[in-house]
Amino acid sequence: MIKKAFWGVSAPLIHYEMLPVHLPQTEKIPAPGHITLLHPKNDDLSVPSAWGIGDAVKTGEKLSLYPDQNDYVISPVTGKISSLSPYIGNYAKSYTAISIQPGGSEIIDDTFQKQMNSPTLELLCDYLKSAPGNPPLSLLADSNGRIKTIVIRGLDPDPMVATSQYIAQSRMKELEGGIRILKEVSGVQDIILITAGESVQGYGHIGARVKNVKAIYPAALPHMVMKDVLGQVVPAGKTCQDLGVCFFTAEAVISIGSAFASGQIPTSKLLTFIQKDGTPHMVETDIGTPIGDILEAFNETVNEFDRIILGGPMTGSAVYALENPVQPDTDSIIVVDRDKAAYVSDYPCINCGECVRICPAKIQVNMLVRFLEANQYEAAADSYDLYSCIECGLCSYVCVSKIPIFQYIKLAKYELERAKTPEAADA
Ligand code: SF4
Ligand code: SF4
Repeated sequence: MIKKAFWGVSAPLIHYEMLPVHLPQTEKIPAPGHITLLHPKNDDLSVPSAWGIGDAVKTGEKLSLYPDQNDYVISPVTGKISSLSPYIGNYAKSYTAISIQPGGSEIIDDTFQKQMNSPTLELLCDYLKSAPGNPPLSLLADSNGRIKTIVIRGLDPDPMVATSQYIAQSRMKELEGGIRILKEVSGVQDIILITAGESVQGYGHIGARVKNVKAIYPAALPHMVMKDVLGQVVPAGKTCQDLGVCFFTAEAVISIGSAFASGQIPTSKLLTFIQKDGTPHMVETDIGTPIGDILEAFNETVNEFDRIILGGPMTGSAVYALENPVQPDTDSIIVVDRDKAAYVSDYPCINCGECVRICPAKIQVNMLVRFLEANQYEAAADSYDLYSCIECGLCSYVCVSKIPIFQYIKLAKYELERAKTPEAADA
């Protein structure tokens, strides 16, 4: 257990806190009473589900509700499916929640093991897309060779979160194995591991170039890494992939290394858990564990108006039900006391200019916010650089009127994307 906080926040600079040389121990959460896996929903309701209530599942078994859709989740336990129900995630994304009741003697599914002797990108896409860290394998496969560089995050993009840093420092052997497999299946030979501060020491030859970034937020966000490490500015409306660069978390690479070393698809998630009093823990738990089980393991209580944040303090989002499950990309859970929670207001912008001064993308945020508040998203994109925003959240952090600018920006981008879908065009 870490006795003191491993982060520090000081305005106006927000520092990434570096882990101590002697890493804290991980704390394992007891096996949960049930597991909930979020499977992307099929929009075509006439397609029947390939799995039903009462079906037996093995540990490590691939559950694909609609096999022609290529989506799947991996069961971390042996047991039976106890329910299939609709679930609405962030920004109204639809899932089917698969609940599994663990039970009986553990049976390990060996389908992956039988095929792992000849690794291919297709095999990785077939089995490791929902492994811990959510490896962006489809993106790599769909790029048609456009990806020339893979960047591995050995530093978490948000302050206070130390999951990637911890994994990169504690599991180098699996990291090296994952890098070797990634190179072999993708043909991408330029792999960069991003670290910060002194942690650049000690990596030896892991098959990647090790690059340091400043331990000051937002240096580890992808757009900043592109600029500061690769010397490329991502143009507005373009992505890092458009410039031939794909980002993996250290955990995603380790999932690949560990799958091929053990023959089993990993299902155990590492995450930073921060209690209301600020005590941080490095927690290991099954994907699908209800957040409430983690809180219970640390005797943490949540009172009215306290907040539970998934992700970091700058870019994370609040959840309101303890039943929410840990997902492959849940890198942190932060419980915030109601008295310390950042509040938002409906005060008007006073044109102080703080947001403009701090914005790393040099956006006229004070103007942008006026269009966002009026739901004029297209004008915000056309005239006020909405798509230049790198989603760091610094504008919200400094805003004296407590306008939730970052949330407005995310919503605007989501609505503009949604407007491009066929359903929106037909509406
Ligand atoms: S979130 Fe705010 S501060 Fe950050 S890039 Fe976007 S507009 Fe600028
Ligand atoms: S920081 Fe807030 S109040 Fe100040 S100019 Fe920006 S949006 Fe307006």
